Amino acid sequence: MKADLRIDARWILPISDTSDILENHSIYIKDGVITALIPTEATCPEAVEHLILDQHAILPGYINAHGHAAMSLFRGLADDLPLMTWLEEHIWPAEGQWVSSEFVYQGTQLAMAEMLKCGTTTFADMYFYSGDSVQAAIDAGMRTVAFTPVLDFPTNFAQSADEYIRKAMAAHERYRHQPLAHIGIGPHAPYTVSDEPLQEIALLADQVDMPVQIHLHETAFEVQQSIELHGVRPIQRLANIGFLNERVSCVHMTQIDNSDIDVLKQTGASIVHCPESNLKLASGFCPVNTLQKAGIRVALGTDGAASNNDLNIQGEMKTAAMLAKAVAADAAALPAISALKMATIEGAKALGIDHITGSLEVGKSADIQAVRLDNLAQTPMYDPASQLVYTDSSRHTEYTWVAGKALLAKGKLTTLDEEQLKTAARKWQDNIASTL
Ligand SMILES: [Zn+2]
Repeated sequence: MKADLRIDARWILPISDTSDILENHSIYIKDGVITALIPTEATCPEAVEHLILDQHAILPGYINAHGHAAMSLFRGLADDLPLMTWLEEHIWPAEGQWVSSEFVYQGTQLAMAEMLKCGTTTFADMYFYSGDSVQAAIDAGMRTVAFTPVLDFPTNFAQSADEYIRKAMAAHERYRHQPLAHIGIGPHAPYTVSDEPLQEIALLADQVDMPVQIHLHETAFEVQQSIELHGVRPIQRLANIGFLNERVSCVHMTQIDNSDIDVLKQTGASIVHCPESNLKLASGFCPVNTLQKAGIRVALGTDGAASNNDLNIQGEMKTAAMLAKAVAADAAALPAISALKMATIEGAKALGIDHITGSLEVGKSADIQAVRLDNLAQTPMYDPASQLVYTDSSRHTEYTWVAGKALLAKGKLTTLDEEQLKTAARKWQDNIASTL
């Protein structure tokens, strides 16, 4: 059987258990799936299309394990503010005024275009009108894990916790057979969702085998407030009501003590580390090195563009590596290859999709990126993992394939129109700016 595509690459980083880096190998793709990964000189199988990338590294597409894609339309709207001021005085009022079905579809398109150009193939999304963000992803051919948000209080999207939950289950029912859409549920945070809906979410997620994501221990204030109101730290409260298990990813976790680590170990919950958002909002430092040593899974996310302000996972890897070293006072903490794993296979595991994506292995979806590494700022080349993480490599991403389809080819988007997206974003900008 002829393959659809054969790519010969100078370096391949499969990010699998069996190998870190291969030189002069070829990858074969048929019907959107990886069918072979073999030395280029030893190859003879035929392919319809043959691409020679002899100055490139091929690696799994990045997995942005936490974000709010449509918030790209609020990028730069309110900077340099503490979390609660930022949320209560700027973001929540702006969302109340502007967020709609159309806002989410177009904002998600803008976010996806940025992510695809930086090698991201899967994005987790926690945002209102999740059906529209999922539809935008399907239309563009990108993989998404959509966590329909749940809050106790009303927004444009729903009036009560019950209604948010009903909408999450409806999205699950509608999209569960779509190969690129993975539907989860995302209670916003312990301080915005009460025990009863949290317990119901845990029950429903278990029934339909759905991933769950929650913002947790983002700030010291959140932990302090929980101790005052509930007598325990937020993570302990979640454990006490049976909310935490292996399907849950906890976003941020900047405030961690030994008892929190015990809870994470006992429940198998993962962490999504968003270092740039945490730094920008001065939320605190997630002790990645300590967590990884304790055997806790840590994935990587950008968070929304309103608190980052970009969706570039390569930049996030570099920041995560730098921050982990500083926090651990150990330059050996979080080496480049570990940062790459956080941005790929660990993200897939945290989101429950590692049987589909996250590494380059025969039988997995061809979610792949190619980065050119012969540029001035990547020369000389001793170690491709180092160049990918520590240099400004994302600007040299030339190809991004999702399920074997090139969504970025020779640096150009194939399913999204960059000029149209900029025009649409500027229209939103004019409307939003006129009310500030
Ligand atoms: Zn977030």
